[in-house]
Amino acid sequence: MRSTLSNRYFIIGIILVILCISVIVFTRLHSSTPPVTQTEPAQLEPQHVVIGKSLQGRTIDAYSYGTGATHLLFVGGIHGGYEWNSVLLAYTFMDYLEANPDTIPKNITVTIIPAANPDGVYAVTNKEGRFVVSDVSTSSTILASGRFNAHTVDLNRNFDCKWQPQSTWQTKIVSAGATAFSEPESIALKSFTTRVHQDAVIFWHSQSNAIYASQCLHGILPTTLDIMNAYSKASKYSSNTSFDAYSTTGAADDWLASINIPAITVELQTHNSIEWERNLSGIKALFDYFDQKK
Ligand SMILES: [Zn+2]
Repeated sequence: MRSTLSNRYFIIGIILVILCISVIVFTRLHSSTPPVTQTEPAQLEPQHVVIGKSLQGRTIDAYSYGTGATHLLFVGGIHGGYEWNSVLLAYTFMDYLEANPDTIPKNITVTIIPAANPDGVYAVTNKEGRFVVSDVSTSSTILASGRFNAHTVDLNRNFDCKWQPQSTWQTKIVSAGATAFSEPESIALKSFTTRVHQDAVIFWHSQSNAIYASQCLHGILPTTLDIMNAYSKASKYSSNTSFDAYSTTGAADDWLASINIPAITVELQTHNSIEWERNLSGIKALFDYFDQKK
């Protein structure tokens, strides 16, 4: 008796389910209103290229946005974790472009290399790839050593402009590598910038609260002066035609000057702030400059 009853309930249940499905299908088929489709906000996907690998095997990544003929390259973290804020600034810029694709003028392609010295970043954050502020070591010894690559080479002394095996950082002597471009991280930047022509390159460093023009043996390129002044005026970092605090050799931006690529170094005000609004103003000034130049 009990099993007969439950069989009946089961059959009634099945009938009800079939009825419900039929009603839903019928309503869908004969509905005059089109189905509502969810529209995602337009998010720009970058073109991602691995431009090389670090000594410890980490990828050095480049992310490109837009398809314009004028190419602008922004590089963070050539001094690794010691200047981790320059890496976070680059990631913030990527987030901004992905959420605000209309910012990029039609004639411009923006490429961002957020971490040119990933081993140096890892030394300070202990994190592969993207990190947050709380990952950053507060030990001054670890922070300082994060400036170099895994050969203890200062990569921004390893480029082929007035290169010498030893160079300076503040009052210290630093290794500039066995030769110019002895380090895989420097080679990655060199091969990318010679393979994909760049109309200007901006390096983010910290902490001088200033912008410096590049030059090698033939003075400052006119476009370098223009973009330094444009970025400076918009961002309120002071503009400087030379870096006089101490003598440097083998700098990446100076090497670019030697092959006629305009380049500037933007030094953030501190080692732990990204000064986003100031830099966004500077970036937009560069966009305006190259948009009007087309
Ligand atoms: Zn630096």
